[in-house]
Amino acid sequence: MTPTAYTLRDLETWSRTAPSLAVLGQPVRHSLSPDMHNAALQQLAFAHPHLAEWKYFRIEISPEELPRALQLLHEKNFIGLNLTMPHKIIALPHVREIDPAAQPIGAVNCLARTPDGWRGHNTDGYGLATGIQQDLGLKLTGAPILLLGAGGAARGAAVDLLARNCASLTIANRTAANRDTLLAELAPLAGSIPLRGIDPAAPSTDLPTGLIVINATSVGMKPDDPLPIALEKLPAPIAVYDMIYHPSRTKLVDRAEALGLRAANGLSMLVHQGARSLSIWTGLAKIPDDTMHLAAHTALASRAHS
Ligand code: NAP
Repeated sequence: MTPTAYTLRDLETWSRTAPSLAVLGQPVRHSLSPDMHNAALQQLAFAHPHLAEWKYFRIEISPEELPRALQLLHEKNFIGLNLTMPHKIIALPHVREIDPAAQPIGAVNCLARTPDGWRGHNTDGYGLATGIQQDLGLKLTGAPILLLGAGGAARGAAVDLLARNCASLTIANRTAANRDTLLAELAPLAGSIPLRGIDPAAPSTDLPTGLIVINATSVGMKPDDPLPIALEKLPAPIAVYDMIYHPSRTKLVDRAEALGLRAANGLSMLVHQGARSLSIWTGLAKIPDDTMHLAAHTALASRAHS
């Protein structure tokens, strides 16, 4: 069953006065966020009865509609928003304040209501680090990282990895110009952390051992996609985290496991960026992330079969 998505037209006549939350994107029907947030709110309402009124929606908004949508959502008592493609960067000029930790990323995925507008946060890096810790039992601080990709997800991850003091950061990306642009933007943030770029088609043999490989490319989403990198050409990597979670098993995860490496898909990153968003909106330190994980997993499985 295709989930419901509201539109800008629906917002113009929105009559719900109780606190609301939403994810904005285009496309947005595939988003698992309403499933996992509404499950968490239902559970939190036992201990915090005022949250029983809160509800999370998905709203299909184009880039041109975004400024009007943000204005209307503020007027209509929305408490918080998540932004997905293509809004994470283009929302910045329409946000009144930006959390200092999100400033070097240049992208926001979570907006929190303030009296006169929206405050932008980026919870993706927290989601990635917590997902890797949970699924792979690994800390990013002090670890050598090979990051695949130079798009929006890679950029957010790279800034967060440097802020967490990874041991070294190597960026592999198909298009050299995009890789070089990202490396130039990251250089002022790297301090003494070794930062370099490589061609994923010719991975260099002088990379450190014990690499955690993080896939932040979109390669693996389609069934006939190739592997984003030949893992066997890397010097003794220890683990692979693929940000892709649909399909739940990519060729990269399969290959990593066949080589005896720890491997996981990106569902835990999605869950933990969401849990951190809900914590920002509710002010609660403890969010039931296991409930969110189960709801996201169940929704994903039901979509795969529909
Ligand atoms: P994006 O900005 O469009 O970047 C796409 C990246 O993939 C670029 O580095 C691009 O390289 C590379 N790429 C695309 N097609 C390729 C191909 N055929 N061969 C080699 N490289 C290719 O996308 P994004 O927003 O960064 O998202 C990237 C992935 O992360 C997506 O799969 C997204 O679903 C996932 N993601 C997951 C989460 C989560 O919560 N788990 C959160 C955010 C994103 P070029 O520079 O060469 O074009």
